[in-house]
Amino acid sequence: MEFLGTIVFIASVLNFFLALFVYLKDPLKKINRLFGIFGFITAIWVFANFMMGIQQSLFWLKTTSAFGVFVPLSALFWILELCDKKIKKCEIFLLSGLGLFFFIISYFNNFIVANVKRVYLGGFKGETGSFFVPYFIYIFGILAFIIYTLFSSYYRTKDIKKIQIGYVLIGAILYIGIVMLVDFILPLFDIRKFIPLDTPSSLFLLLFTALAITKYHLFEIKVILTELLVGGMGLIWLVFSFLMPTVNLRILTFLTFFLFCIFGYYLIKATYEEEKRREEAERMAVQERALRLRTERLAGARDQFILSSQHYFRTPLTSIIGYLEMVLEENLYGKLPQKAKEKLNNVSQSVQELRKRIEESLSIVAFQAGKGILNLEETQIEDLVKKAVEDLRILAQKKNLFLKLKLPKDSLPKIKLDKEKITEALTNLIENGIKHTNEGGVTIGLEHKKEKNSVLFWVKDTGIGISKEELPEIGKVPFQRGKEAKELTLLGKGIGLYLSRLIVEAQGGKLWAESEGIGKGSVFYVELPVK
Ligand code: ADP
Repeated sequence: MEFLGTIVFIASVLNFFLALFVYLKDPLKKINRLFGIFGFITAIWVFANFMMGIQQSLFWLKTTSAFGVFVPLSALFWILELCDKKIKKCEIFLLSGLGLFFFIISYFNNFIVANVKRVYLGGFKGETGSFFVPYFIYIFGILAFIIYTLFSSYYRTKDIKKIQIGYVLIGAILYIGIVMLVDFILPLFDIRKFIPLDTPSSLFLLLFTALAITKYHLFEIKVILTELLVGGMGLIWLVFSFLMPTVNLRILTFLTFFLFCIFGYYLIKATYEEEKRREEAERMAVQERALRLRTERLAGARDQFILSSQHYFRTPLTSIIGYLEMVLEENLYGKLPQKAKEKLNNVSQSVQELRKRIEESLSIVAFQAGKGILNLEETQIEDLVKKAVEDLRILAQKKNLFLKLKLPKDSLPKIKLDKEKITEALTNLIENGIKHTNEGGVTIGLEHKKEKNSVLFWVKDTGIGISKEELPEIGKVPFQRGKEAKELTLLGKGIGLYLSRLIVEAQGGKLWAESEGIGKGSVFYVELPVK
């Protein structure tokens, strides 16, 4: 009994401090205030129970029954607040009025308890009074209503609220379960000595509910558990130091208790900080994920926009070019004045240039987005290169440059290629050679590399060359133009080479450049595998 009495006492003190702790955490919140009242009443109730064991007087028995009414009532008000459930004002008055009535009559003889012969921890010898049955129904009715409210809200709510209500449910079930066990089930087997444990088991409800209101996050459970562990152990230590038989031992235990408090403080602090860091990291990760998703979505939208705009740009440009050709066709609308003809020719060239640029840019995006569609067919590459060289001959002649093509004696193996795209890439390299050369000329070659089973295409010019620093980067980044090239021609956007590389690589090939340095010409290579 001595031991059980100590447990009941500790339960009462813990109840009191828990109520205080929750209340002080945020006294402005209604939910915290209601919890404080509930915890405080429970503490008194458990304390009265403890005193029943100490003084064995009728007064403490009556106090226990009296506060036994207010415990479920205050729990109900608090739980209604937690579950966001409103009840009518008149219902509140009715419930509170009835509670007050039962509270008061508990202090009179013969209403709740009668003919009490003996009082002990957890019970009494005597009879139940005339109002005991309604008293009992009132308490159990409220408990049933609490459980019903918790369950229905648990299924209705989600996220943090659900977790909170879940905690309270666990606490309530543990509490009621223990009361059932020690008060009703065990006595069936004539085991009555655990009856005093019914009131301290209210601690379960209080602990779990305190968890629910003070800490909203599951992650912080570690901190709370540490706090509870340290608090509980500290309390036991404190009680021990009073129970010690000699003064010296008392002082010693008290000193170790003091040291324990310091240790406990740092332990809680460390756990708290660790949890805070983890939560912070967690939050950052969530933010990062959201940002990445948004970027991906944006990139997707951009690709989609560019791919679909290809059509919108190309159609009107093609008709402009068509109409210009018609106007320039002399027989169609009569002879144009020479000046007008020249101007219109310039317009036509610019529009064609514009179309080329747009197509290049759009192709790059298509390749980057992995949506560059290749139309592969068996190709005799010499034919393509010959045509490309012929098409560019005028350009070279205009700059007084030679343009030579070196073909192998035997015909090359056929390669599966997208004819249109590869022509675009190779033409671009030859054109670049011409563009970046002012004296000499450009030589184009094709070779069969038997040992590698590939075809090597090369363009060698006697032009401005490429510096050692720029060489590794050439064609790897769009919009990048060499220093010399910028001086030579302001035109050009640094797109052609990048696109050529994308086209070549999409067909399993490789593109690279070699140069002895500035002013020493350059060679561009394209190696295509024969499959
Ligand atoms: P653009 O010629 O429109 O500027 P490109 O993508 O075709 O764009 O070329 C990118 C850059 O690579 C050029 O600005 C130039 O610096 C360099 N480059 C390309 N071809 C040659 C070449 N044959 N000789 C020297 N530099 C070249």
